[in-house]
Amino acid sequence: MNPRPSSASKRAPSSSRAPSSRAQRSPASAKPSRAAAASAPGVDREAVAKALAALAAMEGEVLDDLCGLARIPSVSARPVPDAAVRASAEATAVLMRKAGLHDVELLEVEGAHPYVLGHRVEDPALPTLLLYAHHDVQPEGDPARWTSPPYEPTRRGDRIYGRGIVDDKAGILVHLAAIASWVRAAGRLPVNVHFVVEGEEEIGSEHLAEFLTRYRAKMPADCIVLTDTGNLERGLPSLTTRLRGLVKVEVALRGYDHALHSGFWGGPVPDPVMGMARMLASLTHPDGSIAVKGCVAGARKPTARERAGLASLPYSAKALRADAGAVKGLKLHDATGADVYAAQWYEPALAITALEASPVAGSSNQIVPSARARIGVRIVPGQDPKAVQRALVAHLKANVPWGLELTIKSMTAGPAWSTDTGDPAFAAAHRALAAGYGTRSIEIGAGGSIPFVGPFAKALGGVPALLVGLEDPACNAHAENESLYLPDFHASCRSAVHLYAELGAVLRPAARG
Ligand SMILES: [Zn+2]
Repeated sequence: MNPRPSSASKRAPSSSRAPSSRAQRSPASAKPSRAAAASAPGVDREAVAKALAALAAMEGEVLDDLCGLARIPSVSARPVPDAAVRASAEATAVLMRKAGLHDVELLEVEGAHPYVLGHRVEDPALPTLLLYAHHDVQPEGDPARWTSPPYEPTRRGDRIYGRGIVDDKAGILVHLAAIASWVRAAGRLPVNVHFVVEGEEEIGSEHLAEFLTRYRAKMPADCIVLTDTGNLERGLPSLTTRLRGLVKVEVALRGYDHALHSGFWGGPVPDPVMGMARMLASLTHPDGSIAVKGCVAGARKPTARERAGLASLPYSAKALRADAGAVKGLKLHDATGADVYAAQWYEPALAITALEASPVAGSSNQIVPSARARIGVRIVPGQDPKAVQRALVAHLKANVPWGLELTIKSMTAGPAWSTDTGDPAFAAAHRALAAGYGTRSIEIGAGGSIPFVGPFAKALGGVPALLVGLEDPACNAHAENESLYLPDFHASCRSAVHLYAELGAVLRPAARG
């Protein structure tokens, strides 16, 4: 494998590392406690028990299907059409049919990787759920940094390692496992479902608006359930009620049409790479906070009540450092748990997500003619993505040193999202999570983005959107050595079985033609 074991491999399997006080709690696979399992009137508890038994019996089969899907390198950053992304869509369709979904089809939009859609309408009088996950994955990064090959799912301890295993192929299997459990145990679901699996989430869902216009009518629903977020900690089921949006631009600075001998030219002529470094440095203050006014405008601080909620969440700086793989002595920008969660969920954040000029390996003593970078700003509810993008572009234009030539490409401008949790669907979700994990669930924010949520909930008439997930702090989603924590995967499958029953009992189906 890799010549030098990366920090991940040196670590013992995650369950032994005590990231924070809560980790000492009983593992998630503990049996559901009595109080946590109380369900809504109208839930057929016997049918739920049978479906859970069917789920337990198919555990090995579900993991095989998950690993099969994770072997397909469905990297959506590659240009359309891409054989692997299409193969992943087709493999998802096969698994949907096997689970018991009908009229399964690939949905195409010009220039987009394929979506997959399957249905199971038991009875129009029942409530209908729109389930969501995505089958595309992030690029694997540096293969040398992986302990085992990214597209050969490998079990180590209570985790399976592989690209896309948790983000988001496990999100697909959670629902297929729950659907198959109900179908095998009861021959039907307690709700109707439409299951849409996207193929371009990891590149910002660029064709979502078009997809919505063309295909929305195929998936009317009373509630959306998205499985593409995370838990605050292993074994602590978390419902995500706010997401950040993402504004992205690509910049290039050019000085010359060829490299210059740094000895002969150095001094009188500007260095484009130094220019890029200075321009990028102007984006933040020395304390790391954003220095571009327009990029923080509209961000609302958490209320006192929200802040108290953040302060009550489990937090350990030691665990955060360990999960981040932070170097010794690294200075975090925020001290307390409440500050950290507020910074991740209520404040915008700016990052340089790519930077290139000239690789160190093989470099010579020259003034490099140009440099390129990508800048991403995670924005929060209350902020206008287009306004933030305009402010960022204006700032960059105003901070070009030494007359270098600036080129800017405006990319994604996706809004943030948040929801209030008054609808009975949220209480139903909490009951289902508590029953599946055997412990009470909490509400959290997430610093990441899922472009699908806002537009779809709106298009479906403002129906409740339930964001549940599998990612844990050590899952390395988007990085090398991505992994899935198995006890939480199984708990999530159980929760999904409960969720269909709970929502079936509390949702009132909207009148449909
Ligand atoms: Zn994802």
